[in-house]
Amino acid sequence: MASSLLELRGVSRYYQGFGVEVKALHRVDLRVDKGEFVAIMGQSGSGKSTLMNILGCLDTPTAGKYLVNAQNVAELADDSLSALRLKTFGFVFQRYQLLTNISAKENVALPAIYAGLEQQARTERAKTLLAKFGLAERAEHKPAELSGGQQQRVSVARALINDAEVILADEPTGALDSKSGAQLLALLKTLNEEGMTVILITHDPEVASHAGRQVVVEDGQIVSDSGNEADGSSQKLSAVTPFPSISTLAAIGMAVSSLKNNWFRTLLTLLGIIIGVAAVVTMMAIGEGGKQQVLDRIASIGSNLISVRPGGSNIRSEAEVATLSLADAEAVAALPGIAHVAPERSVRATIRFKDRDFSGRITGTTPAYQRVKDWQLAQGVFFNEDDLKHFAPVVVLGNTVATELFGSQGLAIGEYVLMKNAFYQVIGVLKAKGASAGGNDMDDEVLIPLTTGRLKLFGREHLSAISIKVQRTEAANELAAQVRQRLVSRHGKEDVMVRTTESLVEAVTETQDTLTWQLASVAAISLFVGGIGVMNIMLVNVSERKREIGLRMATGAKSKDILKQFNIEAWMVCIAGGGIGVLLGYVIVFCLSVFGHAVAYTPAPPIIAFLTSLLIGVIFGYAPAHKAARLNPIEALAED
Ligand code: ADP
Ligand code: MG
Repeated sequence: MASSLLELRGVSRYYQGFGVEVKALHRVDLRVDKGEFVAIMGQSGSGKSTLMNILGCLDTPTAGKYLVNAQNVAELADDSLSALRLKTFGFVFQRYQLLTNISAKENVALPAIYAGLEQQARTERAKTLLAKFGLAERAEHKPAELSGGQQQRVSVARALINDAEVILADEPTGALDSKSGAQLLALLKTLNEEGMTVILITHDPEVASHAGRQVVVEDGQIVSDSGNEADGSSQKLSAVTPFPSISTLAAIGMAVSSLKNNWFRTLLTLLGIIIGVAAVVTMMAIGEGGKQQVLDRIASIGSNLISVRPGGSNIRSEAEVATLSLADAEAVAALPGIAHVAPERSVRATIRFKDRDFSGRITGTTPAYQRVKDWQLAQGVFFNEDDLKHFAPVVVLGNTVATELFGSQGLAIGEYVLMKNAFYQVIGVLKAKGASAGGNDMDDEVLIPLTTGRLKLFGREHLSAISIKVQRTEAANELAAQVRQRLVSRHGKEDVMVRTTESLVEAVTETQDTLTWQLASVAAISLFVGGIGVMNIMLVNVSERKREIGLRMATGAKSKDILKQFNIEAWMVCIAGGGIGVLLGYVIVFCLSVFGHAVAYTPAPPIIAFLTSLLIGVIFGYAPAHKAARLNPIEALAED
């Protein structure tokens, strides 16, 4: 005998609940041939829906065999089952199960995504079906704008979009008024006359009477069957082959539309990522800017310099710091390979000219200072050895100082300025060096002879620093070691710090880099928190959209397709959040730079932040997507 389209052999479905076993179906035998119109009748709780779910391959029997086209369904892999649902069955549900956010047309077209149909083709087909059911005018309407009868016809159209062979309708008229119900039955009848196999579940004998065959179920068993009236004609056995996964483009399309539908929630999710990424970008720009500022200052000193300062690892008291002397400077100058040595002593003070003030650092030094620093004069001269010898009350001003006190630097020469109750004559003004790249003014120098300073300003003998210029830059490190050795042997203890510009750059770079990474890691924590936010909201998303997921699975979506859709949603949130975050970060950095804060634009932070946010999307999006992909379609569809 030829095989039937659908065949149940001794199928049982038991539910395990609270210790008692519910026999929803018990040893059911049923054959349905192509072209039949079967009504399955029974009281509520008799097992009709369970039977329907097994027939539609949404559920698997606890015992027995179910054959579709003579193929044992139990032997099919998950993807093949999805293909079977997609190609063979079209579901019509009591509560329509239309997605509320999209139009009738899009609802009808939905299952075709999983058949790999292009957007254009999907839409065309959906329109044709809607027109056939008298809904051409309603194609663009959302489900809420349609009557119950119209919504149910939309869901029949959806059931047909992938050329289903069997329509499975579970109480399709249950929610409809009698007129709409009659219309729907007429529609199913027409489809049956066109060759479609229809299986209709109902508790209403009147509805069942429209079918060609009535099967009555009671307590999980078939108690009557009006008989197989079809001829049992042999079937063309089509092998079940899984469909390929949905295209990434289609998944992106679905993700965009669902993100748009929940735009406020999307925005909140984005915010977490945006703030995190912007924080990383800003913090790294600030850290990097601070580093550049210090490095600029060092670079302006020159690379062939050695600086000596009092102090050391075991120096505690102020008295011990007062160890660097002029004699030390002279001893160092005697070393071969040293070009110039300038002893320095600085103090903060206010310089006054008439009613104008300038507060700053006043440095007492020797004429060698100019040669060590390589500074040029704009006006006048630098003080000389004679000035030094005679405690001359003369001063050389930086460009900014001269301009502030005299309005114009040209007016400064020859004038007298007042510092700590003593007058000094301005004999020179330094050439403007401009601001450093970090925004620091480098023209705020006030220089006087060291001897004069000792007499009138400092009170104490010791130096605050010795600046040394070496003849050959390459010898700087070696000479620094010699300078150090000489001073330590003179003092009898380790109480000086000797640095070359190079070692200074290294030290500064190291501390600033540490600082930058500390700032960045605090920011990264906020990015991480943002990621947790993404996961949280995606989980809520999955819970809220269970019905949608169930519907997609019932109409042929594979687990992989659902996984892809939800993963892509999370990725897109993170990509968008990352992109906006980088932009926002740059806006903040720009504002900071406008307000004079030292910042640096380097390419690494935005790239790192963006990639991190993407990674976060991949990691934190996975769990929700996985949860969605593993939902049981029957339970998901039962959700309210
Ligand atoms: P009908 O659709 O005819 O109203 P169902 O097929 O939904 O009946 O249910 C048949 C029986 O199986 C009922 O007693 C019901 O309580 C039980 N049942 C259905 N689904 C489950 C489930 N997931 N867990 C436990 N029992 C269930
Ligand atoms: Mg039911």
